[in-house]
Amino acid sequence: MEKKVSIYDREGMEELRRVSRLDPQVVRGMRNRLLKRFCDDSEAVEDFPAADRLAIHCLEMFRRCDSSIDGATKLLFRTDAGMLIESVVLRIATGRTTLCVSSQVGCAAACEFCATGKMGVAQNLSSEEILDQVLQAGQLLATEDRKLRNIVFMGMGEPFHNEENLYRALELLADGELFHHPLTKILVSTVGIPDAMVRCAKRFPEVNQALSLHSVRQEVRERLIPLAKRYSLEELRQALGDLNRIQQKPVMIEYLMLAGINDTDEDAQRLIAWLDGLDVHVNLIPYNAIDDAPQLMATEQAERDAFADVLKHAGLTTTIRYSLGNDIAAACGQLVKKENRAIAAELSKEITP
Ligand code: SF4
Repeated sequence: MEKKVSIYDREGMEELRRVSRLDPQVVRGMRNRLLKRFCDDSEAVEDFPAADRLAIHCLEMFRRCDSSIDGATKLLFRTDAGMLIESVVLRIATGRTTLCVSSQVGCAAACEFCATGKMGVAQNLSSEEILDQVLQAGQLLATEDRKLRNIVFMGMGEPFHNEENLYRALELLADGELFHHPLTKILVSTVGIPDAMVRCAKRFPEVNQALSLHSVRQEVRERLIPLAKRYSLEELRQALGDLNRIQQKPVMIEYLMLAGINDTDEDAQRLIAWLDGLDVHVNLIPYNAIDDAPQLMATEQAERDAFADVLKHAGLTTTIRYSLGNDIAAACGQLVKKENRAIAAELSKEITP
């Protein structure tokens, strides 16, 4: 059987067009229907004579979990390697729709508050696997007459640990012949890898970046994000300054509010001092409990609001993230972890003599 050609493989597609003697317009039409209008597969390829040679998807939809309380949907996909990853569709009341994509299976940052970080070693997703999350979510939204507006790399994984595949995915998302998605509507969230943040800003100045800061006390940060041991707060601050100079727009600072850990008035004052002189937008994140971290508790709403007021009073643009999908986050986040452990155990049995 002839090898299939990925729809993202420019040279392969050109070769397929040539040997199949197709008009360039036929290829363009198929890609536009699929990647710009997010038509379903059969409609997208209906007048494409070499449809059986196309590799459209590399992820298999494993399960869909719809929130019963708001407009969030978690999509669980199975990779070719048999592992599960998740993407989250966030339908916001104003009609805006955001997709949160994964860049890895598991994550080496090992954050104390995150189920993904407890999965163990990370595996990188290919750029095709990143893009297929966008395509399949876009197709789902098209059936609801909704458009995908924002793409955020805030799902499973540290995007800058998969830098080349991230950058290829960004290029293909922006490509006028493919998704043609504005880079200004994409956000990459990192736990803070200073060199990579600056490299990304230089290569993709329009792409928004978010830094998961969570504390400006090194020992607290290291507790919450073990990977933070490798980078000092000073290096991170330097990187934020570089981003401001290169991008000329604010960097988002994410700050998870944890009772008794980083939410005191003194923490707010330290944060204000640390951010002084930087162009940032602080996003306070209410904490959703996970089974693996019973020691962590969310800051009460009144204290969270008071913390936000202190920051605002000091002149910092501050928002509190309205979080969607709390009911499905626990159910499915845990599920991915459990299923992936079982799959990894099976795989290790297979390779053990
Ligand atoms: S970087 Fe993100 S995905 Fe990785 S462990 Fe931390 S919170 Fe979880």
